[in-house]
Amino acid sequence: MIRTPGQPTFYLRQLGCPKNVVDGENMAEILRQRGYVEVDDPKQADTLIVNTCGFIKAAEEESLQALRTLGTDKRKSQKLIAAGCLAQRWGDRLGAAVPGVDGLLGAMRWSEIDRLLDAVRSGIRPTWIGPEEIALAPPRVARGPSAYLKIADGCDHTCAFCAIPLIKGKHRSKPIEMIVREARQLVARGVREIVLVSQDSSGYGKDFGLRDGLATMLDRLVEEVPDVPWIRVMYVYPGTITDRLVETFARHPRIVKYVDMPLQHADRDALARMRRPRQDPLDVIRRFREAMPDIAMRSTFIVGFPGETEEEFGRLLAFFGEAQLDRVGVFQYSPEDGTLAAKMDQQVSTRVKERRYRRAMETLQAISIERNAQQIGRTLDVLVEGVVENPSETGFAVVGRTYRDAPEIDGMVFVRQHSEPGTIVPVRITEAMAYDLVGEVAAA
Ligand code: SF4
Repeated sequence: MIRTPGQPTFYLRQLGCPKNVVDGENMAEILRQRGYVEVDDPKQADTLIVNTCGFIKAAEEESLQALRTLGTDKRKSQKLIAAGCLAQRWGDRLGAAVPGVDGLLGAMRWSEIDRLLDAVRSGIRPTWIGPEEIALAPPRVARGPSAYLKIADGCDHTCAFCAIPLIKGKHRSKPIEMIVREARQLVARGVREIVLVSQDSSGYGKDFGLRDGLATMLDRLVEEVPDVPWIRVMYVYPGTITDRLVETFARHPRIVKYVDMPLQHADRDALARMRRPRQDPLDVIRRFREAMPDIAMRSTFIVGFPGETEEEFGRLLAFFGEAQLDRVGVFQYSPEDGTLAAKMDQQVSTRVKERRYRRAMETLQAISIERNAQQIGRTLDVLVEGVVENPSETGFAVVGRTYRDAPEIDGMVFVRQHSEPGTIVPVRITEAMAYDLVGEVAAA
C-alpha cells in the first residue's frame, strides 16, 4: 500500500471465528474510507487493533497474549485498541489485565471504530461496549474471490456452555434489502462466492416475524443477485431446519450444497444438559441427504461437557461412524464465565477431556480420509483462489476449493494446471489426503 506522509496508519490483528473476522474487516474498511492506511508491521502503525475472541479459554489466552505483546512493545505515541468479543465481555477488566490498552470497543460496537479512534486521539480512554448500536452495516468485505456477508447477529438460544448471547445479545437480522444491496456491491467487486454468516442463520428473520425467513431471503438473493455463482450458508441450528429450507437449498443450483450445522453432541441426555434440541441428529442429516445426495455436511462437537459419561461419549463415537459427516470440528469443553454449564457439578477432568478429544479425532480422521477418497475420479467445479509459489517444486500451479470446502475452514484442492484466480474450472480429482485433494483440470 502506498502512503503519503502524514496519513494515519493502523495494524489489525484478527482472532477468532469467521463472524468476528467479518467485523474486523468491516472495521478496516471503515478506517480505509476515513483515509487510514493498513500496514502489516505493527512498528509502522500509529494505531494497533486486536480484534479479540472470547469464545473459549484458549481463544481468551491468545487474545490476551496478542494484546500483552503489542502493549509491551508499543511506542509512547502508538495507541492500542482491544476490540471484539473479549473486549465486549470483560470490559474494563480487560483494560486492567493488559497495561497499555488505550481503548475498548465491544463486538456490538465495531461500526464505531473511527469515532473511537477520534476519542482516543483526543485523550479520552473510551470503553464502548454497550449494546445500543446494532452493528450490522456495511459489508464491502472481500477476501480473494470469496466474501463473508453477515446476515444477522446475536443469538436467542440458551445453550448451557455458550457465552455468545451474553457477548452479542439478542438475535437481530439484517433486512433482506440490505443483504441484496451488499451482495450486489460484493459482486461488483469481483466476488464469486458469498458466504452468509451469523450465529443462527436458520433463525434469520424471526425478529421480523418471518416464518422460514432464511428460505425467503435465499429465494430473493438468488433472484436479485444473478451474477454470483456460489452462495454458501454457514451455521444453521438443528432445531429449526424446516422442509422448506431443505427444499430451497436443493432447488437453487447456485446455493452451494454444503451445510454447517453445529450439533455439539449426539447423546440425548448430554444434549438435554447442554440445553440443545433433543431431536435425533441423524434424522436432520438424513433429510438433507435425501434431498441432496451429494451435500457436504460439516458439524462441530464438544467433548468433556459436565457429566459426560463414558457411555455418552461412546454413543458420540458411534454416531460419528453412522453419520459419516464430511467435515467435523471437535472442541474440549471449557467453562465460560456467566454460563450455566460453568456452575454445573461433575466437571470432567482435563486428562479425560484430552483423552476423549484424541479418540474423537482419531475416529474422525479415518472417516475424513475415507470420505475424501470417495472423491477420486469425480470431476468437481473448483473456485481458483490463488497460485502456488513454487510450481516446479510442488507440481501444482494453483489452489482452490470445491463446494465441499468453506473458505479458511475446510480443505483445499491443489491443481496441476494453471487457471486464473477467481475462475471456476472443472477439475478431475486424482488423489486424496486427509483433508485436501489433488486434481487436474478436466478437458472441456
Ligand atoms: S445456538 Fe447455542 S452455541 Fe450457537 S451461538 Fe446460540 S447459544 Fe451459542
